[in-house]
Amino acid sequence: MNEQDLKQRKEMDLRMDPEHIFKFDCSKDVSCFTKCCQDVTIVLTPYDVLRLKNGLSISSDQFLDDYTIIRPQPRRLIPLVILKMNDQDKKCPFVTQEGCTVYQDRPWPCRMYPLDMNDDGTFRLMTDASRCLGLKEERSWRIYEWLISQEIIPYDEMNDLFSEVTSPLRAQELDIDNPDISKMIVMALYNLDKFREFIFDSSFLDRFDIDPIKIVKLQKSDEELLKFAFDWIKFGIFGQKILRIKQQPDKKAQE
Ligand code: SF4
Ligand code: SF4
Repeated sequence: MNEQDLKQRKEMDLRMDPEHIFKFDCSKDVSCFTKCCQDVTIVLTPYDVLRLKNGLSISSDQFLDDYTIIRPQPRRLIPLVILKMNDQDKKCPFVTQEGCTVYQDRPWPCRMYPLDMNDDGTFRLMTDASRCLGLKEERSWRIYEWLISQEIIPYDEMNDLFSEVTSPLRAQELDIDNPDISKMIVMALYNLDKFREFIFDSSFLDRFDIDPIKIVKLQKSDEELLKFAFDWIKFGIFGQKILRIKQQPDKKAQE
């Protein structure tokens, strides 16, 4: 291992802030091109699924069936949704010799690579120059410039909203042992097309008082629908008064 590799080994232990400068450049010219798209565990967030299924122009049902493994977690309501690698060669289903075929909609971990985020919001290198030759290149980035170049901001915004659901669930160890509740939560988060059907093809809108403009947005925008799914879960599971239940007509008459 040469001096630069040793330096980067040390950098892997560093907790870096957004101003930190690191050197990296990935292109078809590196001999490891696409090697990092094989035999990796990529956990998908609801927003990753939204972007990928829309980028592929398929339904969320089809995306979940064809491209994911849903792995339940003990005592957790929300399972892990993992991008399924090919059975034979363990490559990502979206990689070709030319690179990533879903580049515009690639998931958060693929945008971040070779960086990852620590729980305290700092960053670290998750590999070194012996495996990721792009780290030997001379192009330098401040971390925040790198994040902007990777269009990470909408992902972070949605993932922050997602963590408002997952963090309390982890902290509270809720005593909910009902598989139907877990199924409903998974549908709302990961199967947006089904969640939209649930809202518009059931008595949902008769029961909840939703602003008409919001209803149009929910019809037209998956992003709005996902934000609404977060609110619905916070209302249903944590009792947060985010949604209003409609008063029943007979109750109104008595007033
Ligand atoms: S391993 Fe690093 S340099 Fe090689 S293709 Fe992946 S990101 Fe690019
Ligand atoms: S989604 Fe794209 S970038 Fe991510 S592992 Fe698959 S091919 Fe690589």
